[in-house]
Amino acid sequence: MNAEIVAVGSELLLGQIVNTNARFISSQLSELGINVYYHTVVGDNAARLKEVIQIAESRSDLLIFSGGLGPTKDDLTKETIAKHLNVDLVEDEEAMKSIEDFFAKQNRIMTDNNRKQALVLKGSQVLTNKNGMAPGMIYDVHNKIYMLLPGPPKEIEPMFQFEAKPKLAERLHEDNKIVSHVLRFYGIGEAELEVRIQDLLDEQSNPTIAPLASDGEVTLRITAKAENEEQAWLLINKTKNEIIERVGDYLYGEDDDSLSSKAAEMLIANNLTISAAESLTAGLFQSELAANPGISQSLLGGMVTYTEQVKQEQLGMPKEILENYGVVSAECAGEMARLVKGKFSTDIGVGLTGAAGPEAHGDQPAGTVWIGIAIDQDPPLTYKLQLTGMRNTNRLRAVKFAFHYLIHLLAEKGYVKK
Ligand code: ATP
Repeated sequence: MNAEIVAVGSELLLGQIVNTNARFISSQLSELGINVYYHTVVGDNAARLKEVIQIAESRSDLLIFSGGLGPTKDDLTKETIAKHLNVDLVEDEEAMKSIEDFFAKQNRIMTDNNRKQALVLKGSQVLTNKNGMAPGMIYDVHNKIYMLLPGPPKEIEPMFQFEAKPKLAERLHEDNKIVSHVLRFYGIGEAELEVRIQDLLDEQSNPTIAPLASDGEVTLRITAKAENEEQAWLLINKTKNEIIERVGDYLYGEDDDSLSSKAAEMLIANNLTISAAESLTAGLFQSELAANPGISQSLLGGMVTYTEQVKQEQLGMPKEILENYGVVSAECAGEMARLVKGKFSTDIGVGLTGAAGPEAHGDQPAGTVWIGIAIDQDPPLTYKLQLTGMRNTNRLRAVKFAFHYLIHLLAEKGYVKK
């Protein structure tokens, strides 16, 4: 079974929006073990859409369309497919009711063209739209599956995940269960990680191992196919253990974890409090941490100490440290961590200072970052980064590294992971 994703919408071709739907659906399909061979984008034009449908039919088994299910004239996906397949469009009672309810709730008059949204391909399986009006549908004919989904991400994503995906899984793998599991690594490059597990990558068949690098992180998706879920997990865990043996030091989480969520989990589970003094990241570290529910018991507060003057006046940074070592230095980062920890009376203090770029800071090249972490009564530990990205990438990476070092340090000190 191979799939093609056809995104319909002139705004995609005009560069006004990015085709995030194709990315989302592809990643979802890979979890089902379905290969996606093509992503196609076509404007709101019936003739060109028809051409695209014909090409897609000639090379793919599963055709997934996104967009063009709305009420306006340029929404023509459903109409074009119906005409092409010679199928009638019929009103879906449930969809019509939910459209009417939507207008009634909003106290708005429903124009006639909205009725068109309740039309579905006769004989299709209808997918409820819980976040909008146009329903989705799955239509089977001539050994092909046509899946029509709405354009807005907030509609297509839940519709695919909760309505379409289970139905697909049922049809495609009646005798097989596909399970997939993601391992997340930080502090190791994709190339190095691949070298270390090269033999596993070369040998892979079931489970498969798919590496992916983005935002400085590397993930490995392990996907296993077996008679049942238990068998699939046995296969996954065997491969996972082999991977951990080689590169376990860099493994920080699994599936939907993020560096900040793992750090937050450890802080909360161990009843630890934390504060931060941030220079180049200007609050990003605290903001990322605050994204995790329940963190208020750990993140007590912090400071943005951007200039040298503020570092001295508000944080209490000794002038001698700045004069003798400079603001981009281990001494400054360590002292920031120690001072903020004292100021907020927390168990942990974090300091971030550096030259975000594009200019160097004195004799410190752009991308030089120092992270300080003070825990308990120990002298602060400091870590140097030499980043090579653009300004904001460097700021984000600095924050990710701070979480990475924090997680390692807490683990080394024997704090439990969850
Ligand atoms: P509507 O009922 O809102 O008209 P629709 O199913 O007809 O929904 P479109 O009109 O094609 O969908 O797109 C609606 C909006 O959804 C677009 O303006 C855009 O913001 C978003 N969108 C459409 N296609 C994509 C895509 N491939 N990737 C990301 N966003 C998209």
